[in-house]
Amino acid sequence: MKGEIYLDHAATSPVRPEAVELMRQMMEETWGNPSSAHRKGLEAERALEEARRRLAAVLDAEPREIFFTSGATESDNLALLGGAAARRGWGRRILVSAVEHEAVLEPAARLEREGWEVERLPVDGEGRVRLDRLEEVLDERVAVVAVMLVNNELGTVEPVDRIGALLARRFGHLAPARRPLLHVDAVQAPGKLRLRPRAWGVGSMALSAHKLGGPKGVGALWLAREARVEPLLLGGGQERGLRSGTENTPGIAAFGRVAELAEGERAEAVPRLAAWRRRLIEGLEELGGELNGPRDSSDGERLEGAAPHIVNVSFPGLRGETVMHALEAEGVFVSTGSACTARRPDPSHVLLAAGLERARAEGAVRISLSPWATREEEVEAALAAFRRALGGLVRAGGAGR
Ligand code: PLP
Repeated sequence: MKGEIYLDHAATSPVRPEAVELMRQMMEETWGNPSSAHRKGLEAERALEEARRRLAAVLDAEPREIFFTSGATESDNLALLGGAAARRGWGRRILVSAVEHEAVLEPAARLEREGWEVERLPVDGEGRVRLDRLEEVLDERVAVVAVMLVNNELGTVEPVDRIGALLARRFGHLAPARRPLLHVDAVQAPGKLRLRPRAWGVGSMALSAHKLGGPKGVGALWLAREARVEPLLLGGGQERGLRSGTENTPGIAAFGRVAELAEGERAEAVPRLAAWRRRLIEGLEELGGELNGPRDSSDGERLEGAAPHIVNVSFPGLRGETVMHALEAEGVFVSTGSACTARRPDPSHVLLAAGLERARAEGAVRISLSPWATREEEVEAALAAFRRALGGLVRAGGAGR
């Protein structure tokens, strides 16, 4: 097959044509400031509220619980820093899983420098947070618990429903303002898992438009109506005072649309992605690859296994970046870890936390699919490219075959 094959959709995806069209329309016609009291403003506000309704419907939530941001990094920062600030009267501790994205780990590290106690929860060999350890360390001084829904490197689906139930059992008797905030980074989940934050007992959830075919620089924080978070950005009081700044209305409208599309396509997409994932695992294992993370895919409803769009493998004796560049020469784009850390030499904190040896962690390659942009023939063509690329590489330690 000719041309490029892009299999790095956990990093980002191209923008869906429906989103491009909606953004064009918004920029050319509905370009008012939604805070303006005249008709231009009201038109923009209507588009903004339509996007809020669409995203709320995807989350089984109320529109007033959706706050638009500049992306998931901002949403994660807002939940961690703003969640801690709202609980500083009594809170002393922050619990985060050891496999969180840096957008959660770095705000937690800042809180630690400011005197908070931060516990990084260990995970099992597939990257799943250890509930026994969480149960041990939970106490009434915990202000924020952050566990992501789908790990961006391993694809592991975390049991956030069980964590929500555990928190409800332990803290349900307290007034909402006195309970810890359960924050869930769900960036990798829309279109692959049904999102039910309220039913799971979650307090806040971070989302990002560009992972589902929307534009970059747009995201949201879903915040349960009874949960408290202090704003980080102060100014004009937009987003009901939680996030000041004139809204990116074209991006937000596109976000609402692609979120709605992703959820509408989920039931059909999940078994298809799961079959492609199975085929990739089988083909890569035939080439000597060793799977990192769960083997089975989630059915799109239950919080178990792996999300159906992420495969992570290591090839003994080879570095991930060597494999990645050899594939690039074949026109296939994959990643070594998360895009944000792919340019750093250190092995992934996620793979090390899951107990992988350093050499295996350094050898990891992530392949990630899109429900709407990936085609079946690309999966087979990618496997053929892996075969050619690996055939041309010399492995360290004579581990080649
Ligand atoms: N959280 C996870 C799990 C991610 O994969 C990403 C992607 O880079 C982010 C947060 C950051 O999202 P954004 O690019 O919208 O800031």
